[in-house]
Amino acid sequence: MPPPLAKPAAPEPAAPETVATGSITAGSSVSDGGVLAAAYGATSPESGLVPLTLARRTPQPDDVEIAIEFCGLCHSDVHAVRGEWGGQAYPLVPGHEIVGTVSRVGPGVTGFAPGDRVGVGCIVDSCRECGSCLDGLEQYCENGMTGTYGAVDRRNGGSITQGGYSSSIVVDSRYVLRVPDSLDPAAVAPLLCAGVTTYSPLRHFDVEEGDVVGVVGLGGLGHMAVKLAKAMGAEVVVFTTSESKVPAALELGADEVVLSRDEAAMDAANRTIDLIIDTVAAPHDLNPLFRTLRVDGALFQLGLPSEAMPPVNPRALIRRRIAYAGSLIGGIAETQEMLDFCAEHGVVADIEVVGASQLNEAYDRMVAGDVKYRFVLDTSTLQAPAKEADA
Ligand code: NAP
Ligand code: ZN
Ligand code: ZN
Repeated sequence: MPPPLAKPAAPEPAAPETVATGSITAGSSVSDGGVLAAAYGATSPESGLVPLTLARRTPQPDDVEIAIEFCGLCHSDVHAVRGEWGGQAYPLVPGHEIVGTVSRVGPGVTGFAPGDRVGVGCIVDSCRECGSCLDGLEQYCENGMTGTYGAVDRRNGGSITQGGYSSSIVVDSRYVLRVPDSLDPAAVAPLLCAGVTTYSPLRHFDVEEGDVVGVVGLGGLGHMAVKLAKAMGAEVVVFTTSESKVPAALELGADEVVLSRDEAAMDAANRTIDLIIDTVAAPHDLNPLFRTLRVDGALFQLGLPSEAMPPVNPRALIRRRIAYAGSLIGGIAETQEMLDFCAEHGVVADIEVVGASQLNEAYDRMVAGDVKYRFVLDTSTLQAPAKEADA
């Protein structure tokens, strides 16, 4: 028998910015078994993050209902909440680095049981039929994957998905990950996006001992790239714009740090790198980076700035047979592989845990590059804001 319903989150105190929202999908409502979730989200590009209440759907036969404990703050959340990528539906509850415990499962679920520690990343559905889905590359689903927030949930009444800055979420079990018990649940949350987004191109390039990996931008993604590339046996060179991050980069395990705005230092790095993982969230010139690559080197761009980048000089690519590529998160099987790899190598993110009332400040600090290296929301503060004030 399924366990009793999780106690519905107390509604946020009536304040002008408190908005009841969220969607109850067809055939499901709070009265027939869904739960209300306390959340923080945006009501417009300018609103910042405010308390909201979501109605989560009744678990369907293949669904897992998760009581969320922690959710990482990704720079993509900032881009989306502030409407920097355009075309955004509001209200919007962001968050796709979700860790929690299973509270209920639908009758068709076999791989998960109440009490299991689980994770959800950036994907909550895909067509399951196209070549990409069949290859385990759901992120490249030919019919469009369903993102964890801000996406049309085609299999659930066409509602808009809402993410992990909330007390619970209901996700089809095919898109739920097992979180190894040995890893700290708060520090594991950022692996669900920052971890797999950097793991995937490192694996695609078959990084191994003897390779030199350059990591550009030492933020959430960048620091994971350093840790993962080191765990794969590579030598790591960090390219940063922040002089203040040099000692921290070395502490993280980087073998060398180059100040990317220092022309002489960039010249000295000429032809030294095999693979560059570029995680910069703002427009920047890639041509000086191409010059640091060896013949057959590759640069994977992971950052998605909202404004245009300076043009790439084709000559920089041609003269060393350099590949300029992009890469989007990772598939479900690869995300599980990454979590298991992290358990084997003791890799987690370096985090700063924040409460709900600190979210807006955390966004500003992220944009200013002032975080080592990932903020993680403690979702218990969503339900008891008074407790936060006491802390
Ligand atoms: P983050 O924590 O804010 O880190 C970004 C880093 O970029 C900063 O720490 C900074 O590093 C560098 N940077 C920022 N502004 C810069 C500027 N004006 N010039 C040069 N360097 C600058 O962000 P994140 O969460 O790692 O995300 C990074 C980007 O990846 C975002 O655009 C995000 O949307 C995108 N993303 C993509 C995927 C994907 O699947 N491809 C997945 C997740 C996120 P330094 O101080 O070291 O220079
Ligand atoms: Zn992300
Ligand atoms: Zn598909």
